[in-house]
Amino acid sequence: MAIVETLELAGGRRVLRLQSPVDGSPIGEFPCADPDEVAAAIRAARAAQPAWAALDVRQRAAIVLRARDLVVARQDEIVATVMRETGKSLQDTLSMEIFASLDFMSYYAKRAAKMLAPTKVGLHGMMAMIKKLTVTYRPMGVVGVITPWNAPFVLGINPTTQALLAGNAVILKGSEVTPSASLLVADIYRQAGLPEGLLQVLTGDGRTGAALVEGGVNKISFTGSVPTGRRIGEACGRQLIPCTLELGGTDAMIVCDDVDVNMAADGVLIGSYMNCGQYCCGTQRVLAPAGVYDDLVKSVADKAATLRQGAKLGGDEDVGAVIWDKQVTIIERHVHDAVAKGARLLVGGKRSQALGGLYFEPTVLVDCTSDMLGMREETFGPVVAIQKVKDEEEAIRLANAAECGLTGNVWSGDPNRAWRLAMRMEAGSVMINDMAVTYGLPEAPFGGVKASGVGRVNGTDGLRGYCQSVPVITNRFKMKTLPAAYPYGIQKVATLRKTIRFLWASGLGRWFQ
Ligand code: NAD
Repeated sequence: MAIVETLELAGGRRVLRLQSPVDGSPIGEFPCADPDEVAAAIRAARAAQPAWAALDVRQRAAIVLRARDLVVARQDEIVATVMRETGKSLQDTLSMEIFASLDFMSYYAKRAAKMLAPTKVGLHGMMAMIKKLTVTYRPMGVVGVITPWNAPFVLGINPTTQALLAGNAVILKGSEVTPSASLLVADIYRQAGLPEGLLQVLTGDGRTGAALVEGGVNKISFTGSVPTGRRIGEACGRQLIPCTLELGGTDAMIVCDDVDVNMAADGVLIGSYMNCGQYCCGTQRVLAPAGVYDDLVKSVADKAATLRQGAKLGGDEDVGAVIWDKQVTIIERHVHDAVAKGARLLVGGKRSQALGGLYFEPTVLVDCTSDMLGMREETFGPVVAIQKVKDEEEAIRLANAAECGLTGNVWSGDPNRAWRLAMRMEAGSVMINDMAVTYGLPEAPFGGVKASGVGRVNGTDGLRGYCQSVPVITNRFKMKTLPAAYPYGIQKVATLRKTIRFLWASGLGRWFQ
């Protein structure tokens, strides 16, 4: 079953034909925007943006709050659309797509005026006596937002909302397998009264995304895989436009031997199976020392065997579908590779025979080793992989050996021990006794280290990341002459030397800095 097919029509037109991962039923056909359409969208955005930027932030925020209320009012429609396109469980859809979107929209709309207000920054040293500094935040212009399929509504609406609040126009290019979720983002903003041209959704695949990146926008906000992120980073670098790259991960969970095993097992399962494991900061590698290993393995396997998976689209399923058939191929390859290299398969391990659609059984692999594909490359599926380690030193070494470093988590009954380990994890964020919650906390800067990405999103800095930070420097007092004015001369050089001596070679001067 192919979830998406690209049809080449007469005249070179390309169209995406989609099927639902729930049951293979047809979803519809969506055009792939070509470079001319991308260029037209950017022109319309550029024409609409100055009037939007001229509004007070509070006026822009009022539209975001109206859009938020529409997300509440239209939540059943959003949930149904996302579940049909992705096969997520109802709980995952409500928590990741609706709850998180509402929280982001409220958070930024209520605080944007303050976060984007000109900020006075106190100067240090001598300059403080003569100059004043104010940092202002100006919109960038047109922002391209490119998103993946695993959380298609929230990953579209969150960056879009922030970019709009900052005074930009947005072109949103959602994933080729979840175009309806992206179209809903635009429809909600249209209904909320956002002026025409300020938010346009382009449907299409990577070629449409590439045309957007090359189309002359002022910033790219990208969420997706490492290989695509690398290509986009290169294209942005060549054009000298900024980008944030939120990429994949192979996140590790370190379990100490003093842990509450029952709770840690729950953490393993939710970390590895939430969103059917298609969660950028889901847990992929569980590292546990011998002292806790057997108990943890037993608890995880017992719990995993009770999980319910299905296509009822009600509230009773724990684990949903795999969203894209290409992902099933990767999951199967990783499971087969692990078993071939000596891992024990305790639960699952194959596509569901009972369910139609793209359902892969929640899977538990234990006695994993570092040479297995699933311990090195992103699996992005409902697979728990547990590796026995000698001690926490080995756990840290293996956790940090990964090419990626998006998030990590440490589980221990001793807060100090957990903190020490957390400080040593090479990851963009770390959780103690919980799995990946960072993205859901808008105050927290979110992003990866190493191959997991470039830049940070969310928080005050994330919102300001959709602006140019422009410092404006003014004089404290009215001046009759410019101190730095020509001509230079012996006298000025001597004064400068004296000043340097005073500031950095005398006790008083050093104190003054
Ligand atoms: P992907 O990189 O294949 O595609 C992401 C988006 O980029 C899609 O819209 C796609 O059409 C577009 N695209 C593809 N080629 C392009 C090109 N050359 N130029 C411009 N755009 C292009 O990723 P995916 O398979 O859709 O998503 C899954 C990946 O996303 C996983 O690796 C996952 O870890 C990652 N992800 C990361 C985060 C995060 O915040 N760090 C969040 C969710 C998902």
